[in-house]
Amino acid sequence: MLKQTKVIVLHRMPYSDSSLIVKGFCFDFGVQSFLVKSAKSHKNPFKSSLDPLAESEIVFHDSGKSDLHFIREATLIDWFPNLRKDLEKTAMAEVMAEILLRYLPTGLSQELEFRYTEKALQVLDRGKCPQDALARWMWHIADCAGYALSVDDCIRCGNSISGNPADFLFESGGALCKDCLGFFLPHYSPEFLSDIARLTARMPLHDPRALEGEFFKYLKTHLGENREIKSYRWLQEVRGYAFSTTD
Ligand SMILES: [Zn+2]
Repeated sequence: MLKQTKVIVLHRMPYSDSSLIVKGFCFDFGVQSFLVKSAKSHKNPFKSSLDPLAESEIVFHDSGKSDLHFIREATLIDWFPNLRKDLEKTAMAEVMAEILLRYLPTGLSQELEFRYTEKALQVLDRGKCPQDALARWMWHIADCAGYALSVDDCIRCGNSISGNPADFLFESGGALCKDCLGFFLPHYSPEFLSDIARLTARMPLHDPRALEGEFFKYLKTHLGENREIKSYRWLQEVRGYAFSTTD
């Protein structure tokens, strides 16, 4: 049976001298694995459409007997060229790809996750606040996975919070209002709490890396696996290197 779908290529590995296995996040079918024959030869008909982090439209054959499918046609939609020129942006996209590969169930449609990932790649490539893309993506993915954090309403009294929350408790599920914080000191800086409010207001973040770090810990805890996400460490190394060379 032939199936057609949009796909974001997450990972690619050699299978034999001439073939590759490509893992892609399909709009209609979730994460799927594809065997691409003679992908390494100059006759490869798919060219850059199956590069990691490319978005393409594909037609593949699903025999129903194997989890490894054959791609018949692939047309490149977006190669995200600006993202690829930047080591930090590439590393941020790789974190998304690794998290999706690790946690998304195979075969099920994950339309919202797909749209958020597609949007994040577009923002990294040509958007206004590329540095916010990963923090925002993690926030949305937590929501999609059923671990939404309350930002607008207080987790304790339920009242809506206007402006910045007085504190944010990841382990309890979100924002705390002034009355419920009382005389206690908040766990986070005013800057962090203002960024939490900026997430929903769709405003640029002051310190996206601080949010990114907290959302990453939150996602890892809730998605229930403790293996390291290697690309996340790589992202920190890339940033450390960029900092030390411009200093
Ligand atoms: Zn409250």
